[in-house]
Amino acid sequence: MDKMKLEDLRKALDRRELSAVELTAYYLDRIAQHDRELNAFITVLRAEALQMAAAADRRIAAQENVTALTGIPVAIKDNIYTEGIRTTCASRLLANYYPSYDATVVSRLKQAGAVLIGKTNLDEFAMGSATQYSYYGVTRNPWDRNRSAGGSSGGSAVAVAAGMAPLALGSDTGGSIRQPAAFCGVWGLKPTYGRVSRYGLVPYAPSFDQIGPLAASGRDLLLLFQTIAGYDPLDPTSLPDPLNLDGDLSASIRGLRVGLPREFFGTGLDAGIKERVLAAAKVLGAAGCELVELSLPSVAYAAPTYHLLAYAEASASMARYGGVRYGSRAGAGRGNVEMMTTTRHGLGLEVKRRILLGTYFLSADCYEEYYRQAQKVKAWMIRDFAAAYRRCDLLLTPTTAAPAFRFGDEAKEERALALTEQYTVAANLTGNPALSFPCGRINQLPVGAQLIGPAGTEALLIRVATVYAESATEGGFPGETVPETGEQIEG
Ligand code: GLN
Repeated sequence: MDKMKLEDLRKALDRRELSAVELTAYYLDRIAQHDRELNAFITVLRAEALQMAAAADRRIAAQENVTALTGIPVAIKDNIYTEGIRTTCASRLLANYYPSYDATVVSRLKQAGAVLIGKTNLDEFAMGSATQYSYYGVTRNPWDRNRSAGGSSGGSAVAVAAGMAPLALGSDTGGSIRQPAAFCGVWGLKPTYGRVSRYGLVPYAPSFDQIGPLAASGRDLLLLFQTIAGYDPLDPTSLPDPLNLDGDLSASIRGLRVGLPREFFGTGLDAGIKERVLAAAKVLGAAGCELVELSLPSVAYAAPTYHLLAYAEASASMARYGGVRYGSRAGAGRGNVEMMTTTRHGLGLEVKRRILLGTYFLSADCYEEYYRQAQKVKAWMIRDFAAAYRRCDLLLTPTTAAPAFRFGDEAKEERALALTEQYTVAANLTGNPALSFPCGRINQLPVGAQLIGPAGTEALLIRVATVYAESATEGGFPGETVPETGEQIEG
């Protein structure tokens, strides 16, 4: 069943050949079998999921408000609020934190009748690229357990890749949905900034943070995206409707101009990945797209600009964890300063590093030299991309510079990781939507390609990638699109 498409599951549920309780029990079994090793979940919602599934079955029986997701299990990254359900952000500080309300995306899933199956692992407060800075242990890649799943939404990517959930939500501040999706061979979308409500998403760098879907196919991804997207008065940065969400995924892509930006194909990129992404470009060319080579010079500065701005925002976001209002408190009874200091020692090293650097970047002495300069580069990057969109409709790039790295090889892989950030953060700095989709494999390891487009083009990105995925499957070239997860994790 983990290889079944959502539309087939939907049909089986609607025809009552399969109940939502059976479907949920199936995924709970997969989790029980595989998650001890993979560690994709921080919390598995066994009882709650079965209850929600039973409610979905009643809804289906009564044919009341049945949506595309009624009775379908969804895994939720553990930095997204779930009412009465532990939400840890992979931090020791929030080990016993139970939010009193749902994030808007979670209420939308509940309204749609989806089943929340568990809360997935991440780097503490989503600060990282390997799901290794988690108080709850590292997440492993189902294609090779000695390799990283990527991050920070590593748990969500692994849940889908290993068939422990058909759908998952992640968050993406600088690539945290797309990079793990690429490492694990699944689809992941970072929506246009403001397209999906951030209400109830624990902030890391609020001007970049977006919640987005992960799934095993473009169609599944679109269904989850359609469920969570749309205006929300509770998020002041939410974009107004109307949305252009209806992706007729079978519509022709003939005549579309696909840009290949030079800065994404230069030195440091793995030769196999380059070959596969260019092969995908050829497939799109054969489908009638015009391939346009172009340059985006601002991208060379993307990673440092992102880190500076993200850490500055993080230092503000993290100010709330002082033992007063949220999470665990340490050093109580020894005065406020002592209490706050001791409590903050409960944060992991990486989080502390970012708070300290962010505070430094915002200090009076550095503000002009660092923060203001970074804001200028960001403005330049927005203009640079806008100019590119006059020459092409969307951009095709690799998602990562190398496949998933082996644990312990972080130092060796540092250059590839830095380059990957250069590839992914541009979409966060410009607010553009970006999609990572599977693009073949190298030595069994998945390769991800990325499509970036102007604001509001999510459905178009998914449509274009689906054309590639379908032609690739039919032609058996250049690579399989959906991993044979069952076989992989048995091996
Ligand atoms: N790897 C990036 C970082 O460490 C992105 C993280 C994210 O998108 N949440 O900041």
